[in-house]
Amino acid sequence: MSFTKYKIDLVALYSGGLDSLLAMRLLRDQGRNLLALKFEHPFNKNLWRNSFKEYWDADLESAVWEVPLGQEFLDVILKPKYGYGKNFNPCIDCKIYMYKRAVKIIQEVGAYGLVTGEVLGQRPMSQNQSALALIENETYTRGLVLRPLSAQLLPETRIEQEHLVNRDRLLGLSGRNRTPQMELAKQWGISEYQTPAGGCLLTDIGYTKRLQEAIRHKQLSIFDTQLLKLGRHFRLPSGAKLIVGRFEEENNLLALLGKGRLIMMEDAVNKGPVGLLEGEAKTVNMSISGRIITRYSKSKEGKEAKVRYQLPNRDGWNELNVMPGDDEIIEELIIVPDK
Ligand code: SF4
Repeated sequence: MSFTKYKIDLVALYSGGLDSLLAMRLLRDQGRNLLALKFEHPFNKNLWRNSFKEYWDADLESAVWEVPLGQEFLDVILKPKYGYGKNFNPCIDCKIYMYKRAVKIIQEVGAYGLVTGEVLGQRPMSQNQSALALIENETYTRGLVLRPLSAQLLPETRIEQEHLVNRDRLLGLSGRNRTPQMELAKQWGISEYQTPAGGCLLTDIGYTKRLQEAIRHKQLSIFDTQLLKLGRHFRLPSGAKLIVGRFEEENNLLALLGKGRLIMMEDAVNKGPVGLLEGEAKTVNMSISGRIITRYSKSKEGKEAKVRYQLPNRDGWNELNVMPGDDEIIEELIIVPDK
């Protein structure tokens, strides 16, 4: 990794959400130089990119490092030591992992400690006193994590004791009421930020149902976690899976991701979605997939339709005649029904 030219005092976990933004602002106002660490994990709503990025953010007045979290992170999420929250969110294990990665970066840049936007009592699983202490114990960061939004309610950190930051100018917020944060944002003219936890699909019911279903069938890869973000998902009787795009952008993304890796299928005559089949190109799989795809295309029910498909690592297309499916087949095989 490259490094910015000035001395970093503290490394901040920056999610893009309001709390981490305010936490950083409170410290910038005290003249501290920060490095904003934005972990790009596979469960963000946007598609995961496996690339490190460094840039200057004028609003944050700080350098930002975007650091991808890959298979190692996924392994932690799928087998969490401290279990899951209300949905499929293993927040304590997730934070432990992120703190550990952050500690390495703190050492790399010679910073003094870590800053987070955590607010005491805001999230039941990971933001209570005992969970915060547990996370610090597991990551050997006791006294080195400053939470500016709740600092006055928490034990004094070494960062405050050694006067790197003035504790009196930090806040004492707690609980789920976000009015104080909104007021601060207004006062400081901050209008663009993500909604709280809005970026993590592990708190999304539809996504986590698909994720849990997929886990029952195979060892998941990062690629699988990304496909779970797109389209409608069907489990075929053979155990194969079909993913069908719902709108143009999804169709384009599925075509891009699936090319050369999965069997691609679409209506050969009429406008319709892109389908990706994960499984063997057996007649039974191909025929059911064709029926589902033409159920969502402009082909007419009750009239034979033609689909075309491309096998992975082959350039040419083959064709197949099918009868478009009906609501019954959709209801029977769809993993999470449309709302
Ligand atoms: S909400 Fe998601 S990203 Fe945030 S701590 Fe929990 S599991 Fe991790």
